[in-house]
Amino acid sequence: MDHTPPAFTCMKAIRVERFGGPEVLQLAEIPRPKPGAGEVLVKIHAIGVNPVDTYFRAGANPAITLPWIPGLDAAGVVEELGPGVTTLRPGQRVYTAGTVTGAYAEWTLCAPGQVYPLSDRLSFAQGAGVNVPYATAYRALFHRARVAAGETVLIHGASGGVGLAATQLARAFGLTVIGTAGTERGLDLVRREGAHHAVNHRAADYTKAILALTGGRGVEVILEMLANVNLGKDLPLLAEQGRVVVIGSRGPVEITPRDTMSRDADIRGMSLFNVKGRDLASIHAGLAAAIESGIVRPVIAREFPLAEAAAAHVAVMESGVGGKIVLIP
Ligand code: NAP
Repeated sequence: MDHTPPAFTCMKAIRVERFGGPEVLQLAEIPRPKPGAGEVLVKIHAIGVNPVDTYFRAGANPAITLPWIPGLDAAGVVEELGPGVTTLRPGQRVYTAGTVTGAYAEWTLCAPGQVYPLSDRLSFAQGAGVNVPYATAYRALFHRARVAAGETVLIHGASGGVGLAATQLARAFGLTVIGTAGTERGLDLVRREGAHHAVNHRAADYTKAILALTGGRGVEVILEMLANVNLGKDLPLLAEQGRVVVIGSRGPVEITPRDTMSRDADIRGMSLFNVKGRDLASIHAGLAAAIESGIVRPVIAREFPLAEAAAAHVAVMESGVGGKIVLIP
């Protein structure tokens, strides 16, 4: 007897059976989830690929049990509400900030608090690029660095998902923006998205160029995407009472602590996974307003079919991507 469920209850998803390289991302046909009490079923139209998805795929998160469907960021339409959900309605366009069952799929279950309305101003592909990049950029600028209009921010790695988000937000909120990228195309993109100045982080004398742009005074804030490479060189670029927010780091680094003493400077870490409650609500309220006023404009670099998730994971870790990588189910 054939025990395969009828086709209408199935869906395609990327199911990880063991942690490892991109090749563990395999397309599978699995039962479509049903929303229980307090759950929302979202039909996914686009999925945002973030570097953190690759770390988790490789086994970096001990809380993940196998088999596992990756993905935090998606955009789509609310299809069905479980009992007790009153804050959303079927047919509503939404983006997700985390899911219950995983975003690399045709449908996903979410808690209501993981689902936010998606403005008609943004496509589904752009909606899939809102959560991790923009929530991280917002958190770094407004909660951790506590920027004030008139300050100068160095966005170190401005051509990627978080960097472009930070560039757009910082420019709109009255900061002077210096953004870095590693290619000519990336430098053009960073300027186009709002940086007053763009500097190549691969050039030998790039720190001199940044100091010169501030008349030797230094920058008030640095958003750092690769602290293990740059933190030691960042500290001498800070103005008095400057702040470095460590957003990304992939290893150890040597610094000279005296560089913080002479400036009363701060090194501030952050993880989006630590943000909860009122802070999280505040970030998404701020982003909703920024989307409505056209400040948030996610840049889509490449789209891959869901079946090519492995290729998307290779691409997201390459340099020179220039925006978001998105999967289309
Ligand atoms: P992404 O889209 O892959 O962008 C990576 C960025 O890093 C690009 O702008 C790239 O520029 C730049 N980069 C490469 N080499 C650099 C160097 N030597 N110095 C400065 N920048 C350099 O990644 P993303 O989504 O923006 O995330 C950026 C980092 O933040 C990742 O490590 C990610 O894991 C981390 N992150 C952390 C949090 C958190 O909560 N703490 C949240 C989101 C992301 P080119 O390609 O032009 O060289």
